[in-house]
Parts: sequence; structure tokens; C-alpha cells
Amino acid sequence: DSRIARITSAIRVIPDFPKPGILFQDITTLLLDPVAFKDTIDLFVERYKDKDISVVAGVEARGFIFGPPIALAIGAKFVPMRKPNKLPGAVISEEYSLEYGTDKIEMHVGAVQEGERALVIDDLIATGGTLCAAISLLERVGVKVVECACVIELPELKGRERLGDKPLYVLVS
Ligand code: 5GP
Repeated sequence: DSRIARITSAIRVIPDFPKPGILFQDITTLLLDPVAFKDTIDLFVERYKDKDISVVAGVEARGFIFGPPIALAIGAKFVPMRKPNKLPGAVISEEYSLEYGTDKIEMHVGAVQEGERALVIDDLIATGGTLCAAISLLERVGVKVVECACVIELPELKGRERLGDKPLYVLVS
């Protein structure tokens, strides 16, 4: 697909951000290219439009950029999975481990119903910890996570293995 080449070249790589030795994949330059940004959304919509998905769950922060246009195009609701203490209503939360310490994501109680089918979206999968936490949160309330989708995968960090048999779809590896 020629669209993938354009998307790949629209992603900027910034060395030593946020700390020395990290090669940060910057998707803000993808957002500056309306053709590449639209191609990104179209590729996901083509894949998910006929999969009976009623929930697109986006992980803060960059899942909030890619999730909503996909949700609107496939006729699904958008559910933000937020960093702790940001959501005003009652929440359920899931803790997950980082390289040093732990982090947490939260979702509003009542945002999803038991038996719904969800897509989880984020910009990038590294170790897979964030996506695993999002999957657990949804599965705890009886939602079926059909697939996870990211624009970018860093395969050397083996996030795909951490997801186990949960399918992962990425545009750029
Ligand atoms: P993981 O939990 O898979 O180790 O890390 C993935 C999370 O960290 C995602 O929410 C993603 O946005 C963020 N992340 C880690 N590295 C990068 C990077 O190089 N670029 C971007 N855009 N996000 C990153």
C-alpha cells in the first residue's frame, strides 16, 4: 500500500527525547500532512468498519488524536482511557508497571456495557504495558476487545508478545 510509505516518512524521529538514548517517534509531523493523516485514519476505518465494533477506546494522550475520527467513521462511541485523577465521574482503574515504578489508566464507570465489542487504539506500542492495562480494564467490565491498533510498533521491545493472543494491527514497524 503506497499510503504506508507516505505515513512512514511523515513520522519524525527525535533522538534523546525525553531522555538520552531514546529515539522518540514524533507523530505531530504526521498530523501536519493532511494526506498522510487521512490515509492513516482511512486504513484503520477500512479494517474496522464491518467488524461490529461499538467502542473505540483511545489511550491518553495520542490515542485521543487517532481514536475519535475512527469512531465517527465506523459509527462507534469513543471512550477516553485517561491518566489518573483526570476524569470527573466515578472511575475504574488499572495499574501497570513501567521501567521504573507504576502508572495507572482510568475509565468512567458506565461508559461501556457488558457484551460490547471494542477496538483499543494508541499511537505507538513499545513494551505493550499500556495496551495490556487498557485491555484488562475493558475485559473487567465484560467488554470483548476485538483488536488493538497502533500507528507505530517498536518490535525490539516485544510488546506484541506481551499482548499474548490478542491481535495487534500496526501501520509502521
Ligand atoms: P508501552 O506501554 O507500550 O511501553 O508504551 C507505549 C506508550 O508510550 C504509548 O502510550 C505511547 O504514546 C508512549 N510512547 C513510548 N515511546 C514513544 C515514542 O517514541 N513516541 C511516541 N509518540 N509515543 C511513545
